[in-house]
Amino acid sequence: MDAGPRPVRTTCPYCGVGCGVIADVAPDGTAAVRGDPDHPANFGRLCSKGSALADVLTDEGRLLYPEIEGKRAGWDRALELVARRFSETIAAHGPDSVAFYVSGQMLTEDYYVANKLMKGFIGSANIDTNSRLCMASAVAGHRRAFGADTMPCSYEDLEEADLVVLVGSNLAWCHPVLFQRLMAAKEKRGTTIVVIDPRRTATAESADLHLALAPGSDVALFNGLLAHLWASGAADLGFVSGHTSGLDATLRAAEAIRFAEIAAATGLAVPDLVRFYVLFAKTERVVTAFSMGVNQAADGTDKVNAIINCHLVTGRIGKPGAGPFSITGQPNAMGGREVGGLANQLAAHMALEEPADRDRVRRFWRAPRIAERAGLKAVDLFRAVADGRVKALWIMATNPVDSMPEAGLVEAALVQCPFVVVSDVTRNTDTARHADVLLPAAAWGEKDGTVTNSERRISRQRAFRLPPGEARPDWRIVADVARRMGHAPGFDYDGPAAILREHAALSAFENDGARDFDLSGLAGVDDRSYDRLAPVRWPVRGDDSPRLFADGQFYTADRRARFVPTPASPPAVASPEFPLVHNTGRARDHWHTMTRTGLSPRLSAHAAEPAVEMHADDAAPRGILPGTLVELRSAHGRMTGRVTIADGQRKGSVFVPMHWTDQHASSARVDALVEARTDPVSGQPALKSSRIEARAFAAAWHGFAVLRDRPASIPADYWALARAAGGWRVEMAGAAAPPDWTEFARALLPSPASGLLAYHDAASDRHRFAAFDGDRLAGAIFIARAPLAVGRAFLAGGLTTAHQTPAERLRLLAGRAGPDTPDSGAVVCSCFAIGVNQIAAAVTSGGCMSVEAVGALLQAGTNCGSCRPEIRKIIGETARREATPVRLGVHAVGD
Ligand code: SF4
Repeated sequence: MDAGPRPVRTTCPYCGVGCGVIADVAPDGTAAVRGDPDHPANFGRLCSKGSALADVLTDEGRLLYPEIEGKRAGWDRALELVARRFSETIAAHGPDSVAFYVSGQMLTEDYYVANKLMKGFIGSANIDTNSRLCMASAVAGHRRAFGADTMPCSYEDLEEADLVVLVGSNLAWCHPVLFQRLMAAKEKRGTTIVVIDPRRTATAESADLHLALAPGSDVALFNGLLAHLWASGAADLGFVSGHTSGLDATLRAAEAIRFAEIAAATGLAVPDLVRFYVLFAKTERVVTAFSMGVNQAADGTDKVNAIINCHLVTGRIGKPGAGPFSITGQPNAMGGREVGGLANQLAAHMALEEPADRDRVRRFWRAPRIAERAGLKAVDLFRAVADGRVKALWIMATNPVDSMPEAGLVEAALVQCPFVVVSDVTRNTDTARHADVLLPAAAWGEKDGTVTNSERRISRQRAFRLPPGEARPDWRIVADVARRMGHAPGFDYDGPAAILREHAALSAFENDGARDFDLSGLAGVDDRSYDRLAPVRWPVRGDDSPRLFADGQFYTADRRARFVPTPASPPAVASPEFPLVHNTGRARDHWHTMTRTGLSPRLSAHAAEPAVEMHADDAAPRGILPGTLVELRSAHGRMTGRVTIADGQRKGSVFVPMHWTDQHASSARVDALVEARTDPVSGQPALKSSRIEARAFAAAWHGFAVLRDRPASIPADYWALARAAGGWRVEMAGAAAPPDWTEFARALLPSPASGLLAYHDAASDRHRFAAFDGDRLAGAIFIARAPLAVGRAFLAGGLTTAHQTPAERLRLLAGRAGPDTPDSGAVVCSCFAIGVNQIAAAVTSGGCMSVEAVGALLQAGTNCGSCRPEIRKIIGETARREATPVRLGVHAVGD
């Protein structure tokens, strides 16, 4: 009998929405992926990244075996070495001389074991996580207001609200399925959406009101709102008097700012301010959802509390369709918080600064050395590595050489650190190259555990394929080291279910309702039930787990929520040397440092090189033209990327996606530019407000190539490498032309069997090369003085098609599809590979003036829906261009 695909329910490993995924595993071990219709986070939907998960189920680039100093080693030897070096360092220099830097990519069970080893057995709290970079300010804000890191909302609240305020959140690109749920709710009940963001993002395009406030003026805006809510009688006096404290001092701080001053501080028009304030005041069901635009700031915690203050004064918290909602970036940022993966937290939402909490955890763990004080937060941790206080560092599942601010200093710190261990899935990352010991970790689809999404929902990740080589789950690697350090009894787990049971039991230990995080209902889960665990929101107490804060009870000593005064910071002083503000964020189809999404041709097609978005008024005086290259410079580093003139970009600000590394570009590590300035309360770095300058990259030549094989090196001052079906596509440029273009081409192209086709135009200095293996393209290279206007999508497609006739080969060398096969342009819809030119043609020739009409004609936007905001934008731009000739500003030259 033919065995059909075996469906395995699991959870997407990318963003904090935490969508349910079904992997249909074929008998040969390959898998197709679809949305889980029964998962309450997504009800079957997936975004472009989730839909392409099967593309990254490859062993390409994997770290397969332990390595010591770059040479393969057995697990025993590698684990012995790690345990010995950490033990020796602790013995010689004390527990605080070692550190772990972990990740929101890890499963809760992995995180729990790492945190237990450091805080309970090594006796230091020097374990911090890359989640410090994305939501530490939300944690600190919650703890100041609620007495615990309690996120009170659910996704249903977004759907049941009448007003949704999105602050510093490009939900359409960063949490696409949640955005789709919100848009569906808007269609159904007419939800009003306000977007507060300096940039007109894809999310802002769909809003009823976009407040493009000046960067860093959020606190002034929400202080003004608080004052308005009070003055206009929108306060819930019963709630304020019965369940809160501290309003008077907070109002005094808020009211110190007058209305005209708010308009001046935020750069917003008074009518827009009034509209927002009145909308908020009169709408009972309001959710204020916020993300990295709030958290990644030097006043991020104050921003969070300024938002929470507005919900407390109106009593709009703990009710359906109302509350402040922190949307997390990573798939398990919440799980990390639950186990105490931040350096200033203890496990199960207990407080490191509370002696009773420390004692409780110590007794539960039977811990020989419980950490007595907060450890080093991420930025300080790497500073301690740099100055030698931390002498042994273990980095798990993250890439700080690219993602930390002042990334150049972080890299230098690793170079001189006496002992660096990296456990990861990927062999070649910018961080892994500095490891003394590399430990191969199991990837998504290869390991079992749980993750918690933004709405506190715990879901299972399940294994459905074998780890390649000798890769192992992180929890097992850490437990094996712990045993070798002499802590066998505390780390004798036989699987992830045992770890979850212990985690749940700790959350229930001496709790009695005093602490928000309570998984007592899972403490007795057996292995079989763990295997079958359905998605569940915490608290899981075995009762009906009521809506948090519905009873007006918080987790402070007097059970009252705290208003927190948030005086607005003075505006940043402009620097003549660095007059621009540098903002960072995500591209739609990539994730973090592209170790996974960079493997997918269809995800790489949407943005194939590092883009720098600028306002025309900033570009023009600097002689920077659309589609050319620009160098960005700060006091800390440099990068080079391709300019997009974006009319939604605020004047004076420059936006750069965060994803490119030395593995994919010559110089595009965006965090090398970012100053390591942190919020004083949360320790979260201000990743969105560095001061920079921009100048045109003086290119003597520009190049584009499609190559079957990844080149060992690229002889160009600027290059960016992206996956294409059947090979790679490369953008290049140089400050000076090489002496011989044919030699240049030979260095990039694989040695072909049937020679090299070449075209040279000496007068215009244009050179083209194509090499074939039989009828297959081995590579093609295009060189010109100006940015190249070749059909990139057509050329990339040439890697997977046969070129049998001389005419077909010459057409490829011409760099343009023939009239019978129009060039589709840069990919907008990754699910159906529909490009910008096709959508524009659907508008101009097909008369499609709505996203639905484009979808009916081309299918674009009809699957995952992630591209629908872009399609809407292209329709608008094309229609405007037809009326008055303007250029499309969002796509690379030649696409
Ligand atoms: Fe994954 Fe996309 Fe869902 Fe986020 S929204 S969890 S990236 S499918």
